[in-house]
Amino acid sequence: MAIYNFSAGPAVLPEPVIKQAQEELVNWHGSGMSVMEMSHRGPEFMSIHEEAKNDLRELLNIPSNYQILFLQGGASQQFSMVPMNLATVNNEVDYLHTGEWSKKAIAEAKKIAKVNIVANAEDKQFTYVPDFAGWQLNPKAAYLHITPNETIGGVEFYDLPNNVQVPIVADMSSTILSRPMDISRYGIIYAGAQKNMGIAGLTTVIIRDDLIGHAKAGTPAMMDYKIHADNDSMYNTPPAYSIYMAGLVFKWLKQTGGLDAMAKLNQQKATLVYDTIDQSHGFYRSPVAKQNRSWMNIPFTLQNDTLDKPFLKQAEEQGLLQLKGHRSVGGMRASIYNAMPMAGVVALTQFMKEFQKQNG
Ligand SMILES: *Cc1c(COP(=O)(O)O)cnc(C)c1O
Repeated sequence: MAIYNFSAGPAVLPEPVIKQAQEELVNWHGSGMSVMEMSHRGPEFMSIHEEAKNDLRELLNIPSNYQILFLQGGASQQFSMVPMNLATVNNEVDYLHTGEWSKKAIAEAKKIAKVNIVANAEDKQFTYVPDFAGWQLNPKAAYLHITPNETIGGVEFYDLPNNVQVPIVADMSSTILSRPMDISRYGIIYAGAQKNMGIAGLTTVIIRDDLIGHAKAGTPAMMDYKIHADNDSMYNTPPAYSIYMAGLVFKWLKQTGGLDAMAKLNQQKATLVYDTIDQSHGFYRSPVAKQNRSWMNIPFTLQNDTLDKPFLKQAEEQGLLQLKGHRSVGGMRASIYNAMPMAGVVALTQFMKEFQKQNG
């Protein structure tokens, strides 16, 4: 029986990637060493690091005035690093509040800067993105922080308002690499790797040159973008194995047609799940506004929540794992990142239809 893992993160990896990692585990490219055992300053790892950066730059078409940093600390550490490094000349910062992850980013920023909430979706339990027209932007803000894909709420948006005059900082942990994007519209993009880029331990930061080198006085070295940029992410020991795994994921993406092909597939996968929900006559429900439905994380509830447990149990028996919703939302959540094959989504939707037939 095929197993499909719908975990929100750490999440499923592409099968060819995990197989290649297995093949290379003990002896990487005839070096006689595992990547886990290598000096991060030796030629072998340096080449892994360099290729990972180059492949990511190519995949996302990252302009030359942006640096790629491979850091640790998770996306959560960026919640602090962003205001520590950017809220210097002006201590005022703008945040869009769209869900559980923006909430955490805001809480950290408040410890460091004066936070203005440009718009807040809490009035509808974070099931939509407030209209651009209503955003109360502060033209003097050091930056505007957004969360383009709220992993827990399943709320996603791609267009950006045209009237933002300050650098846009985006937490793209659960949506990076899911489709092409225009990097030049952003000041900083950051993402934990364990959703769409590889395994935990690595946080990728894509940062425009002019935003580096302004950290507040007293900022610890490890929290200063300039220290990491000046040292090519090797100020201290980098998360070497996680960088290697991300590198394999980047190669896999290039081989499978890059982000245009991935976007097409992701849209097809998401459409199949949402159609199954929408055509269930209310047996399944998506709480999210149609125009903001995520391609990556799909929360849904059952009309009759006494069926939640049997749904999860029978799904598991059919190899459909980790479909339980986040504790703050309840119900189910299917995370269908890049590495989830179409066959997994087909298996899920067939199960959903069959379950409805027997319990509807
Ligand atoms: C998972 C996630 C985080 C937290 O990531 P860590 O790497 O665990 O710190 C932050 N933001 C978003 C949008 C996420 O999905």
